[in-house]
Amino acid sequence: MMMDICVSKERRAFMWTENVEQTEKAGQKLAEWLVKRGTFPAFVVLDGDLGTGKTVFARGMVRAIAPRSRVHSPTFTLVNEYRTGTLPVFHFDLYRIEEEEDLYAIGFDDYARQKALLILEWGSRAPGVIPPDAITVRIEKDPDRPDRRRITILQGGKPLHVDFGS
Ligand code: ADP
Ligand code: MG
Repeated sequence: MMMDICVSKERRAFMWTENVEQTEKAGQKLAEWLVKRGTFPAFVVLDGDLGTGKTVFARGMVRAIAPRSRVHSPTFTLVNEYRTGTLPVFHFDLYRIEEEEDLYAIGFDDYARQKALLILEWGSRAPGVIPPDAITVRIEKDPDRPDRRRITILQGGKPLHVDFGS
């Protein structure tokens, strides 16, 4: 496949995707890399405006661990749980939270203690619950090309060089 980063063996901190499938694939690759790394809980914050592809990226991550899951933004429930894989995946969408308290009301502490993958759309809305070693995936639209996205992966504010293999 000609997905810039996801196929190259180079260690790249950002990538371009041209369609939904490539963004989903990028999410899958990041989750596979995290599983290989084996440090859990792992927190992945998805940053980007509405409609950039955060849920698409999350779907790829979820399916890497719990294949064939149906994945949609947990906009109203705050969290969806996927438990059919080798470890639980908790997918949050904090778009609608008003204060961090709301998260503790749904038992965030318990989620955050498990050997699990935690994906947080709009995680920057609750900075107090995000550990300093969280990974941030920033997704941006290309103003000139409607289906193009630039995806940057950071840890502690620095580019994270994920080896996406081939
Ligand atoms: P968010 O969760 O950031 O609000 P979604 O993942 O729900 O966004 O939606 C992304 C939208 O952008 C979808 O309608 C999808 O079809 C469209 N899209 C177009 N190009 C891409 C791309 N390269 N990657 C991801 N989504 C894309
Ligand atoms: Mg979403």
